Amino acid sequence: MLDPTARDIKYLPGVGEQRAALLNRELNIYSLHDLLYYFPYKYVDRSRIFNVSEIDGRMPHIQLCGEIRSFEEVGEGASRRLVAHFTDGTGFVDLVWFRGIKFIKGKYKLGVRYVVFGKPTIFNGRANIAHPDIDPADTLQLSEMGLQPYYNTTDRMKRSGLNSQAMAKLVSNLLAMLPDAMPETLSDGILQRYKLMPLVRALKIIHFPSNINELRHAEYRLKFEELFYIQLGILNYSKDRKRKYAGYNFSKVGDIFNRFYSEKLPFELTGAQKRVVREIRHDVNRSTQMNRLVQGDVGSGKTLVALLAMLLAKDNGYQACMMAPTEILAEQHFSTLRRMLAGLPVRVELLTGSTKQKERVPLLAALLSGEIDILVSTHAVLEDNVNFTRLGLVVIDEQHRFGVVQRAKMWTKSHIPAHVLVMTATPIPRTLAMTLYGDLDVSVIDELPPGRKPITTRHIFRNNIGEVYSFIEKQLREGRQAYVVYPLITESEKIDLKNLEEGYTHLCNIFCDYKIGKLHGKMKPKEKDAEMQRFASGETQILVSTTVIEVGVDVPNSTIMVIENAERFGLSQLHQLRGRVGRGANQSYCILVTDYKLSDDTRKRMEIMTGTNDGFEIAEADLKLRGPGDIEGTQQSGIAFDLKIANITKDEQLLHFVRDIAREIVENDPDCNRDENRVLWRRLDEIKRRNNRNWGAIS
Ligand code: ADP
Ligand code: MG
Repeated sequence: MLDPTARDIKYLPGVGEQRAALLNRELNIYSLHDLLYYFPYKYVDRSRIFNVSEIDGRMPHIQLCGEIRSFEEVGEGASRRLVAHFTDGTGFVDLVWFRGIKFIKGKYKLGVRYVVFGKPTIFNGRANIAHPDIDPADTLQLSEMGLQPYYNTTDRMKRSGLNSQAMAKLVSNLLAMLPDAMPETLSDGILQRYKLMPLVRALKIIHFPSNINELRHAEYRLKFEELFYIQLGILNYSKDRKRKYAGYNFSKVGDIFNRFYSEKLPFELTGAQKRVVREIRHDVNRSTQMNRLVQGDVGSGKTLVALLAMLLAKDNGYQACMMAPTEILAEQHFSTLRRMLAGLPVRVELLTGSTKQKERVPLLAALLSGEIDILVSTHAVLEDNVNFTRLGLVVIDEQHRFGVVQRAKMWTKSHIPAHVLVMTATPIPRTLAMTLYGDLDVSVIDELPPGRKPITTRHIFRNNIGEVYSFIEKQLREGRQAYVVYPLITESEKIDLKNLEEGYTHLCNIFCDYKIGKLHGKMKPKEKDAEMQRFASGETQILVSTTVIEVGVDVPNSTIMVIENAERFGLSQLHQLRGRVGRGANQSYCILVTDYKLSDDTRKRMEIMTGTNDGFEIAEADLKLRGPGDIEGTQQSGIAFDLKIANITKDEQLLHFVRDIAREIVENDPDCNRDENRVLWRRLDEIKRRNNRNWGAIS
């Protein structure tokens, strides 16, 4: 059956070409379906009439029924206004208009009963309502009024008369022509078992509920469906992947792994690291492809876990590749691995976008012949001419910087898709992980290496920056190093770079006895690398930088992280930056510098940062503060993440509930062909097609 709501929005009565263009551009509404799923953001109860005597200035709005006794025009110029003295017998209230005075005076008659709705205010002891909604009382059936929907509209829409009320009118036109036979999107079995109302009814109610109870039921049905299909999609995909791809079997823990473990490992693994390595060993020894996410807070030692996994690959005759999101990080991993593996027969090489052709040619040849065991790389490895002979394991560091598209691309680099280990230091709350990475198994490194002192975090206003400088000076005298980070929202913004340059010059004047380095994304890779090396070796003591050092960078002697304009960073980014210090034995400090005037949101972020060092706590707080759509990684995740009604944080319980239901269906109907589930599989296909369209539009 053709979906009747697939039609272009311009054909809806009341829309037409012009409004359609506006709806397209402003709200992404293209079809009847899009409008149908454009839900109100709030409802106002208009089922109750209040008495004038009940008016309280703190009420958000009030509805009254009575008559206008007299009109009066008062004031001059801009404050000229029309006042209507309105009463219901229990008292008087002034209805006030600053515009359209003539029109209003002609429209409303004295002595006629009207229902009046608006926000009351008390001014000089008198109650008044400015620009109220007024309807003749006899045309309004109170019982039909129920809860009034409010729709978000943009300024541009409002200027063209497409305000919330006009949107409600369009939706009501749409609902009037909506056939009751519109295809149901959940199966009968599910509707009955979980007592869900039919789709069409839920859609009607969500726009025009007559009472709260009914509204809650409709919301539940729609949230259920939204979360259910996300989970069904993920779990079904995961099942397909496991069925389709056998995995390489790394059955032995061999010579090199053991030699590294006993001879080279500079410290004892933490309990959490040991556990995760065990989980990985279990995964790669089952003949199915591993797809595992390792979540570990900054500094928890993920690199070492990755290294051990790569040695397992080597011991079983396979190559491994480690991908990092920035060249700086790739360089750092490369030198760490080389250093740690020195003396072992493991060949490690580096390939990035700036690898010269002269080195690249033999490097690619050695990769293809199997002489290279571990390749450290960036996105550069995704290019078609980079080929392995036996790629058995792909490690993706800082997973949130890569999308599923890139992950999938790596699968084409070997005969059987390689095992995949993705690592993230931006811990993702469990609920979000379930939704985003439902296809991945998750390991958690929930323990920091011993001896780490918690980082002390302070929030300082710019006018106290002098104290910060003397503190840095003191630390430098003790031989420590410091980062000073400036925001750079996009690499092309000149103005941001100017901040960095000015900050650099300023610091050079203040710390004239010390050497200061400078690092930003506009520099050539070679220069960046050299600058980073100078800092790592202690040749420079302060590194003034943009967020290019955000992820992964590891210089244990650096104990101070100053973040300028901290208000311009999100929580997870602040936490990542803070993670650049506290990596050695010395007490470390993170100093967040902001202007004096702060928004509530920023104040909250600063409080969270100074209150905890726990990445998981911060991630939860971030999710609550910003909503899932903004969390790093969700955009690139490939799952169109614009939830229309469900909320990952608030509806966590429901999420778990529907996940179990979806899992049962996938397990009982692995070939997607059981009659009772036909509706579900068809709907899932539809959703996928729609999301592909969206995905195509983004990339
Ligand atoms: P991240 O998880 O943020 O990637 P790294 O892998 O960069 O963390 O490790 C941070 C630092 O901790 C490195 O200097 C590393 O050598 C060190 N480290 C890792 N594991 C241990 C351990 N078990 N004991 C002591 N230090 C460790
Ligand atoms: Mg790391």
